[in-house]
Amino acid sequence: MDYHKIALEKIAKQAEVPEGYIRLSGPLEHDNIVNGDGLRAVLWTQGCPNHCKGCQNPETWDYAAGIVVTIDEIMEQLSHFKGQAGLTFCGGEPFVQAKACKEIANRVRKEFGWNVWSFSGFTYEIIKEAGGEPWEFLKSLNALIDGPFILAQRDLSLKFRGSKNQRLLRLKQGTGEILAIE
Ligand code: SF4
Repeated sequence: MDYHKIALEKIAKQAEVPEGYIRLSGPLEHDNIVNGDGLRAVLWTQGCPNHCKGCQNPETWDYAAGIVVTIDEIMEQLSHFKGQAGLTFCGGEPFVQAKACKEIANRVRKEFGWNVWSFSGFTYEIIKEAGGEPWEFLKSLNALIDGPFILAQRDLSLKFRGSKNQRLLRLKQGTGEILAIE
């Protein structure tokens, strides 16, 4: 089976988390400067189907590990983070909890005026083809860093990325249109 078909099957299997909840792999961060432009809050999701060789966070793969918290609780915690430019979703794989991530993205934009970025081990093209909640989440973003981590293409000099195949895509929020590729 080729990468394309396998990736589409993986993204189609969304994690089973109750409505209004999200599964996290760790506490929320703030004042982070390595996961996007400016000072940022960071949300670490739990659960990843990609299993990239050389992944630095294999403890985030298990869909049943981590902690399940309400989206309201996330918003309450984020409201105490002052001076942040935005929120970045890291993983784990945010796009297998796409519905919850989208809700948080829309709320932080509306309630705090923040921009929203996400990492994904899936490519933009896979997310677009998958459609449904993953594509709706992508459309809520201002930027996506996409693609699996490929050990053979690792490059420590890249900004925000771990391997050369990954791209920083600036997006038109609301439509998902690619504005620039870095
Ligand atoms: S997508 Fe990210 S978290 Fe998942 S295996 Fe690859 S590097 Fe690790």
